[in-house]
Amino acid sequence: MIVTNAEIKAQLIAVGTADIDRSLLGRVTIPTAGPGAGGTAFFLKWDEHRVRLGVDENSPLKAIEDNDHILILKDNEPLLRAQLEEELIHCPQQAYITISEQCIFDCKYCPVPKLSGKIKSTGEIVKLVEKASESQNFKAISITSGVAGSPEKEVDRALDAVNSLKQFNVPIGVSVYPTADSSQRLKEAGVLEVKYNVETMDRELFGRVCPGMRLDFALEHLKDAVRIFGKNRVFSNFIIGLGETDRTVEAGLKELVLMGVIPIIRAANMHPLRKGEVYIKRPSAKRLLRLNRILRNLLDEYGLRADIARTMCLPCMGCDLNPHRD
Ligand code: SF4
Repeated sequence: MIVTNAEIKAQLIAVGTADIDRSLLGRVTIPTAGPGAGGTAFFLKWDEHRVRLGVDENSPLKAIEDNDHILILKDNEPLLRAQLEEELIHCPQQAYITISEQCIFDCKYCPVPKLSGKIKSTGEIVKLVEKASESQNFKAISITSGVAGSPEKEVDRALDAVNSLKQFNVPIGVSVYPTADSSQRLKEAGVLEVKYNVETMDRELFGRVCPGMRLDFALEHLKDAVRIFGKNRVFSNFIIGLGETDRTVEAGLKELVLMGVIPIIRAANMHPLRKGEVYIKRPSAKRLLRLNRILRNLLDEYGLRADIARTMCLPCMGCDLNPHRD
């Protein structure tokens, strides 16, 4: 039986971790934002594919050294032979920087509000990018942030950073909580792409897992962002595994695609700091592949491409299946 790259990657994402001897890792990732915040992870690359796996000594996947490569074993059988890939900042080929490592919201799957990390100044961000820009792998800058203080203050911080980062002459993408004029201001500042996350398109679930936030507000601003940034330049993370049905997922994917937004199907992850606060069932490989196929068909039907993005998660594709590249 021929196993496709998408099937291999779906199996890896469904687990999300591997047991690897830490001495094999060079510069490792410790994400400071989003549901993976606080963990350690590494990137593997094979052909045109990439995956990011968390380090976990109890993982059912074992990663061992194999002649300058890493061999991933599942049930003691080889699943993938790939190369370790260095990150620049957070991910390979991008300086992906989190401004505020804290958040006034309390999404139940996200550790950031519990970590109460620092807020980087624009000067610190510029220094980090300066260093990353020395690498020939430096292709883009991506900015994200929790919400420290207020969404408006966060957009101001992002704009301040963007204005100082234009000097690097690479595409810039921004993922923040939207405000009334965030898309217009980010576009005017020279940002190429934006990501406003819906998190889930199950409205009842959204109210429970993201208290204090409004899904309709995010959708309104996504629509506006497509008008301002154009097709193929607006993205939204869509978490799978919070208890939603595939029927809601399919309807939600369609709603987003019809608006011109490219959804990013993201496997839910249980962070130790959130145990007991939220239901999470990481999606199986089969489910991920099925939803990815549905998304691919929708994107094709409505003329959107997931393989031309220049910033943030679609070109990185470490955490997700990219419908047009995997
Ligand atoms: S896919 Fe997105 S969240 Fe995952 S490592 Fe890449 S840039 Fe980070």
